Amino acid sequence: MLFAGMLVLSLCAVMDAQTTGTRSPAPASDTRTERVAVPEPTPQALSYYRSGNVLWIVGNIWDLLIPSLLLFLGVSARIRNWARRRGRKWFFEIALYFIAFTVIVFLVDIPLSYYQGFVRQHAYGLSNQTFDKWARDEVTGLLVGLVGGILFMWVPYLLLTKSPRRWWLYTGLAAIPFIVLVALVQPIWIDPLFNRFGPMKDKALEADILSLAERAGIEGSRVFEVAKSEDTNAVNAYVAGFGATKRIVLWDTILAKLNREQILVVMGHEMGHYVLGHVWKLILMLSALIIAALYAVHRTAGWLIARYRHGFGFSELSDVASLPLILVLFSLASLVVTPIALAVQRHFEHEADRFGLEITQDNYAAATAFVTLQQENLGVPRPGRLYTWWRASHPTLGDRIDFSNDYRPWESNQPLVYESYFKRP
Ligand SMILES: [Zn+2]
Repeated sequence: MLFAGMLVLSLCAVMDAQTTGTRSPAPASDTRTERVAVPEPTPQALSYYRSGNVLWIVGNIWDLLIPSLLLFLGVSARIRNWARRRGRKWFFEIALYFIAFTVIVFLVDIPLSYYQGFVRQHAYGLSNQTFDKWARDEVTGLLVGLVGGILFMWVPYLLLTKSPRRWWLYTGLAAIPFIVLVALVQPIWIDPLFNRFGPMKDKALEADILSLAERAGIEGSRVFEVAKSEDTNAVNAYVAGFGATKRIVLWDTILAKLNREQILVVMGHEMGHYVLGHVWKLILMLSALIIAALYAVHRTAGWLIARYRHGFGFSELSDVASLPLILVLFSLASLVVTPIALAVQRHFEHEADRFGLEITQDNYAAATAFVTLQQENLGVPRPGRLYTWWRASHPTLGDRIDFSNDYRPWESNQPLVYESYFKRP
């Protein structure tokens, strides 16, 4: 959807896929230095990976098919007629159209979301979530999307009316403050609707993390723990927020499955995102890609409307009935630019890995942490190239384990890339 941007805004430690069941006890803390081998993927992980790829293709086709059907069958025009009669004023017409359209798509999507988000996760032992929690989260997500749409959906349509030739540029520029706003409120207003957040429970570990944060130049009040175990068995940590709301969040699952040294390396990675400003860099890149995708919409929509306007039931892009057309074209353009966005993201993740290694200098903990992530989250260490280009926001786990083994400039007195960020203790 148009708000796809907000989903990418948290940078996590771990990986792209979700989640595993069988858990191994956290290895005992020590100061070992040997090389860690990249484990072979389990048959279950391979099955999860392959079926996930099929599901990704099905999901993409589905996301193009449903709005296309609403468009070509004239359903969109009929929703618009209803919204116009009921809403009377332009703003309310847009809002009512958006509500009806979003609810219809939500209902049609239920079988796929239920399978993907609930059945499949349980089948692979990645989740103990109750059906009630799943359903509540789905409805909450729908309501959040509706509120966001009602508040902001009129902007592109106003711009389409006022500037039919440059609307794509102005909409893309207007998206920047919108994305910043979403990034700002997400950790304080949106995320707590889904899970409970609080200070860290393990005070000894918290003290270690705070002293690491101090060395990275981050105020300690910015570390949170979230009760994610009610949703998933997967492990993760992430950086979210912007300015005053920027913070590092640890899932309680990662605290249960990694040892102290491994958690400190993961935190070093997150602190890397934090101090290297990856969130605002991502926002800038995303905005540029949104403008490019909207330009593609602008260049193709007019031709399609001229050709199919009788079936569509509208003849101007500024007619709100065009929403499914804009979404379909935007999704297609997004698929084209996705490999660029992911390549940049993988670069940030690699730099965050480097930051984590430089600040902790604990190669063994880093490598074994990634091994645990692979096992716990049903990862495959070396996915195919198509997967990497279109789906991987992180370097492959195989590459991350290799890098964790090999990167040790401090042992030969080489300069560190991020040394200037570290405060002397
Ligand atoms: Zn990361």
